[in-house]
Amino acid sequence: MPDGKNSYLIVGAGVFGVSTAYHLIKKYPDASITIVDRDAYDAESRVAASWDWNKVVRADYDDIVYCRLALEAQDVFQSDPLWKPYFHQTGIYWMCRSDYAQEVLDNYKKLGRRADLAAVPVDEARRLYGGLFEDADYTGVKEVLVNKTSGWAAAGDCLIAVTKEALRLGVKYVTGEVETVLVDARQGGKCTGVKTTAGDVLTASHVLLCTGAYTPKLLELSADSTRNDKLSAGTRIVAGGITTGMTTLDDESYGRFKSMPVGVQGYTAEQGPFIGSLPPTKDKELKWWGQTIFTNKREVLPGRLLSAPPAEPDYAQWKVSGRLKEDINHANHVFYGKKGATWKMEKHRICWDAFTTSADFIISPHAAAEGLYVATCGNFHGFKFFPVLGKYIVQMLEGTLSPELTEKWAWDRERPDSSRNPDYPRWEMKDLIGTSKL
Ligand SMILES: Cc1cc2nc3c(=O)[nH]c(=O)nc-3n(C[C@H](O)[C@H](O)[C@H](O)COP(=O)(O)OP(=O)(O)OC[C@H]3O[C@@H](n4cnc5c(N)ncnc54)[C@H](O)[C@@H]3O)c2cc1C
Repeated sequence: MPDGKNSYLIVGAGVFGVSTAYHLIKKYPDASITIVDRDAYDAESRVAASWDWNKVVRADYDDIVYCRLALEAQDVFQSDPLWKPYFHQTGIYWMCRSDYAQEVLDNYKKLGRRADLAAVPVDEARRLYGGLFEDADYTGVKEVLVNKTSGWAAAGDCLIAVTKEALRLGVKYVTGEVETVLVDARQGGKCTGVKTTAGDVLTASHVLLCTGAYTPKLLELSADSTRNDKLSAGTRIVAGGITTGMTTLDDESYGRFKSMPVGVQGYTAEQGPFIGSLPPTKDKELKWWGQTIFTNKREVLPGRLLSAPPAEPDYAQWKVSGRLKEDINHANHVFYGKKGATWKMEKHRICWDAFTTSADFIISPHAAAEGLYVATCGNFHGFKFFPVLGKYIVQMLEGTLSPELTEKWAWDRERPDSSRNPDYPRWEMKDLIGTSKL
């Protein structure tokens, strides 16, 4: 049970790790809590998926559990002075090719939540927001979900602000790369801490991995160094990469687009992942994410093959192939058609996240070592839960998480086939090098 005497080592300063540190220190002000991350929290460039210009904040989920959690998180974004400055309630415009809009409306109804949202027929929707999306690709679109209460958050700025607040409250931050977790055979294989690549040993009674896309690799290296193969993530977690791209709007376009809602092109699982377009930042940068989600399978040690971000310290995230840049051109086209035809794409980044076949997080004790816990697997949708993730992760550490969430986020559970998850990685990175059209 967490209390003032326990010590917590949180590996990873993305939303899962920082939210945990923040909720822990608020609940147990005397506890010893240390975050360790390979990047400084205010570094100019970080590998964290959570560190980004902006992220969609929405409760538009067909899964009622995430709908409820996202509403809880959004209420914090809207009311708490720590989070509020980073949330922009621009609304969302979601072109649905399945029954998604109706399922979201049903969930709001079941949860007794009143909000300004509607499923709008395509012809009517095209005229909304001054016709910004009139040239979008509506092939197969059944209706458009318009939720005026959704929006986006300035993700990197928000992450820094909450990290600073956790540090002010007493959390410690160590910059270093964790090479392996440590287990003590004399204590029955209990996890006692971690070792960094610089050779430093950090110990704690609770070790929590919030390492995002790097988690399978870290566990595999740990399985090898501790000779405990059960530490390995196996098929539970897969690292996947997605391309984002940005254009800087000229003053005239900025005038038109600055109050736009978040745009989403939704597809069925057979057609592929959804694509998004985020409203311009204060630097007038409009962003998209692409549709090609890929693994990078490599032998991390002889005979140990898994998907991991590239080995470079920055995950080679700024090295984006011509082929992946095409993915962003395609996204531009299906949202804005001729309006965006002359826009120049200036910034591209590959962002890495951890995926499960069900798109559920893993927030759970690790079954193979007492004292070791896992909280990650954002599945390309984890940021918006930043304000409340830590609350549930602390419950997991305390053993008070509801049975429903314990089962949903378990380390060991039945997992569906990935074919039903439209956002599961379906490509391999080495096949996406080059300049040809997708
Ligand atoms: C392109 C893209 C767009 C997205 N858009 C949205 C969106 O609009 N809305 C939304 O809600 N979600 C979105 N997501 C998902 C969201 O960003 C992630 O689910 C979430 O940020 C994951 O948080 P995390 O804490 O698990 O991992 P991360 O944020 O990746 O953090 C992991 C941290 O662990 C550190 N780390 C890893 N290994 C080690 C090690 N060995 N030693 C030390 N430190 C280590 C890393 O440096 C990093 O800081 C998007 C994701 C991507 C990739």
